[in-house]
Amino acid sequence: MTEQDEAQASAEKGEQERNPLAMETLVALCASRGFIFPSSEVYGGINGFWDYGPLGVELKNNVKAAWWQRMVRMRTDVVGIDSAIISHPRAWEASGHVDHFSDPMVDCRNCKRRFRADQIEGERCPEAPKKRALPECDLTDARDFNLMLQTQIGASVDAQVTAYLRPETCQPIFTDFKRVRESARQKVPFGIAQIGKAFRNEITPRNFTFRSREFEQAEMEFFCHPSQRDEWFATWREERMRFHLEIGFDEQNLRFRPHAPDELAHYANAAEDVEFLFPFGWQEIEGVHDRGDWDLSRHSEFSGKDLIVTDEETKERYTPMVIETSMGVDRTCLALLVNAYTEEEVEGGETRNVMRLSPEIAPIKVAVLPLSKKLAEPARALHADLSRTLNTFYDDAGNIGRRYRRQDEVGTPFCVTYDFDSQDDAKVTVRERDTMDQARIPLDGLARYLRERVEGTA
Ligand code: ATP
Repeated sequence: MTEQDEAQASAEKGEQERNPLAMETLVALCASRGFIFPSSEVYGGINGFWDYGPLGVELKNNVKAAWWQRMVRMRTDVVGIDSAIISHPRAWEASGHVDHFSDPMVDCRNCKRRFRADQIEGERCPEAPKKRALPECDLTDARDFNLMLQTQIGASVDAQVTAYLRPETCQPIFTDFKRVRESARQKVPFGIAQIGKAFRNEITPRNFTFRSREFEQAEMEFFCHPSQRDEWFATWREERMRFHLEIGFDEQNLRFRPHAPDELAHYANAAEDVEFLFPFGWQEIEGVHDRGDWDLSRHSEFSGKDLIVTDEETKERYTPMVIETSMGVDRTCLALLVNAYTEEEVEGGETRNVMRLSPEIAPIKVAVLPLSKKLAEPARALHADLSRTLNTFYDDAGNIGRRYRRQDEVGTPFCVTYDFDSQDDAKVTVRERDTMDQARIPLDGLARYLRERVEGTA
């Protein structure tokens, strides 16, 4: 039995490994430091919807930029799009979502709450006396519940059309396939990528942002000849793991989980999830799927438009096969925060909270901290200079030790202290987050030095 098989077997037996970090600690930190907090919090929040604060939006933008850079800009065989959230309703009939995108659910006849039928084992009723085990409640038989969020389009009630907020970002990639291939002058094999919002009316949103009703996906559909599907599946599987390691995940917190044959969609040839070790066990952050020619064939059938390609050399006409990589941006952000959060004991028995995010992903790259408010003028000038190329924060409130700790806790990799000597020797102290090492660095060339450290090229 391989290590992975063992991990899967133990997960199936319910002996899940868990990341020891308490979720409550992270949720509280995310709210207090402005990473992520409930949407419309002043009204008590709305289940399954989250807002990203000043640090959260930077973190999320950095994750998306890292993905776009590697998946689109650094490749000649992948191009990007940004499609509308709402597609023609027929597109969701063709994709199978109108008929099949559902979870089985059960209702409790006593408390009237609704639960996912596949998630009642081991759960307790939140309402029943003494929170009895859910399976012992008076539950209805399972019924299918469609997860797509609907909206009405059109000004007059009579002429309104029901449309759907997309439950995944990939379908517009398929409907745009011909236009994008021709306009970008791409030939198979090539891919189309997009990052954007997706919506699912999840029955039980839970585990902070892990299962939300509004979330973002970063998806890439790679079109290839049928004879090359296994090769491209293997390539993208490796590429995606490499990406996660590059953005800072620890190797031991990631694994692949191949889908069992009975989990595979009827059109899928292979599928593997990239899983992360969350405090609530191993869970998916990305899927790599071989979707076959299902999507293009169905859109061709439903739209009446020909989505076949012709091999210029052999003149063979065929529908390309699709290898998909589908990453949840919010789940990846959450996993990165779990992965990065550490508490360590420092001199004097004090505890230091450190968010060990990679410099590429960290919301703030540099904090400028004048030793005294009297040094505000040159320190602000330095902040303005560094801000031109690096996200730089300015803080002159409180003692310097406390200011360092505040930056450690939100993951800022470098602190620059401007002190009374700086005016004479034209140097500042650069302190590193992880080692807490300090070095005097000349102001002349400081921006370049920091940029190289952030980019990892120094
Ligand atoms: P799950 O089984 O956890 O519901 P899924 O298999 O339905 O996920 P996909 O349809 O493959 O997920 O979506 C691709 C990615 O989108 C997932 O790996 C995940 O990161 C993200 N994702 C899916 N549903 C949600 C959600 N409700 N909230 C946040 N992210 C999500």
